[in-house]
Amino acid sequence: MQACPVDTITLDINTGAKVIQESTCVGCKVCTIACPFGTVNYSSSTGKVIKCDLCGGDPACAKACPTAAITYVDADQAGFEKMRAWAGKTDAGSTATA
Ligand code: SF4
Ligand code: SF4
Repeated sequence: MQACPVDTITLDINTGAKVIQESTCVGCKVCTIACPFGTVNYSSSTGKVIKCDLCGGDPACAKACPTAAITYVDADQAGFEKMRAWAGKTDAGSTATA
């Protein structure tokens, strides 16, 4: 969020998802470099970036998966702090706050 020069990544307070406003994204890709988890990707077809927005709290991927391999759980149960700690050890983690 802090890496974006045009402040177009916002926090969905209901889901906790970081949401990219496509209408104002300028496609600079800074967020793709800043994200230590590699969750932001550039789309050459739109010239913008895309990332998971948790489908507003009702993930389509979890519903679509035939083996329930994808489940939607609270971040506290998903080892988020462990992921954050690991990200902090990477080059991206040392500069990123997005
Ligand atoms: S590419 Fe990322 S950093 Fe650049 S404007 Fe779009 S959301 Fe912001
Ligand atoms: S389908 Fe899954 S991965 Fe795609 S935006 Fe929705 S929750 Fe995120």
